[in-house]
Amino acid sequence: MKPRSFDYVRARSLAEAIAALSRHGAEARIIAGGQSLVPLLNMRMASPALLVDIGALAELKGIALADGWLTIGALTRQVEAERSPDVAKHAPLLAKALPHIGHVAIRNRGTIGGSIALADPAAELPACLLALGGEVEIAGAKGARRVAADDFFKDLYETALAPGEVLTAIRVPAHSKEMRAGFSELARRHGDFAMAGLAAARRNGTVRLAFFGVGSTPVRAKRAEASLAKGALEEAAAALDSDLDPPDDIHASGKVKRLLAKTLLRRVAKELA
Ligand code: FAD
Repeated sequence: MKPRSFDYVRARSLAEAIAALSRHGAEARIIAGGQSLVPLLNMRMASPALLVDIGALAELKGIALADGWLTIGALTRQVEAERSPDVAKHAPLLAKALPHIGHVAIRNRGTIGGSIALADPAAELPACLLALGGEVEIAGAKGARRVAADDFFKDLYETALAPGEVLTAIRVPAHSKEMRAGFSELARRHGDFAMAGLAAARRNGTVRLAFFGVGSTPVRAKRAEASLAKGALEEAAAALDSDLDPPDDIHASGKVKRLLAKTLLRRVAKELA
């Protein structure tokens, strides 16, 4: 299929992008890497009147370490983050997760911000951001704001982004020697969206577990986190019965997904030890 016709603006500055988005409200849509949006347009699952292309905005690109946080610009390509020595050193959880996103051709175009803004519940990066206790930087007509990952993912493909706002960057606490990061996912073939996955982080006595592919958003498993923090792995696995309520989907029943989640937890616990 072909998309419905739409107008197109290539923004030359963040202010210009925000102005175009504000003028057209819910009728406008940002395009970044296009790896999710273009298929949605072609299948006519999205039919915006205006596409605002942010691809030329240099201020949304780059990776920087400051004040104990690693900031990654929204337009940073997934492959750039995957190959970045700074990401490997300061955000090893992201480095572990990135190669699981689709295939290299997808990651060559797909952006970090696009993945977080889309908030696919089976995507790797939203779960990593949640596990790391990261934040999202947002700009709009009323100025800039930061939203904690815990408050960003609202529902299926629904985030704290309001119409007219641009996700400008994500930031995560920089890795330190007392931190551990664990990642695992189960997919039918490498590169497919996960049937279920787990991104996890431990810092001193605190554990954060963010499952993906098991709900309408990435899901924190808070009872399991508390059990794992005191070293009780099987208690943590049992706690997933109440922490997670995965719906049936085309990949597996909710019951099977819970079993997969327990397997993932046992695998990832070794990385957190
Ligand atoms: P786009 O497609 O351009 O945009 C996606 C959405 O985000 C749109 O609604 C757009 O308006 C919005 N948006 C984009 N940037 C911003 C911004 N800065 N501020 C506000 N809103 C914004 N993803 C995975 O996580 N795991 C996978 O295994 C995986 N497999 C894939 C396999 C295939 C075959 C394909 C085609 C895609 C796959 N993807 C997967 C999706 C891929 O990671 C996308 O790149 C990503 O989801 C969206 O990034 P993008 O830059 O392409 O965004």
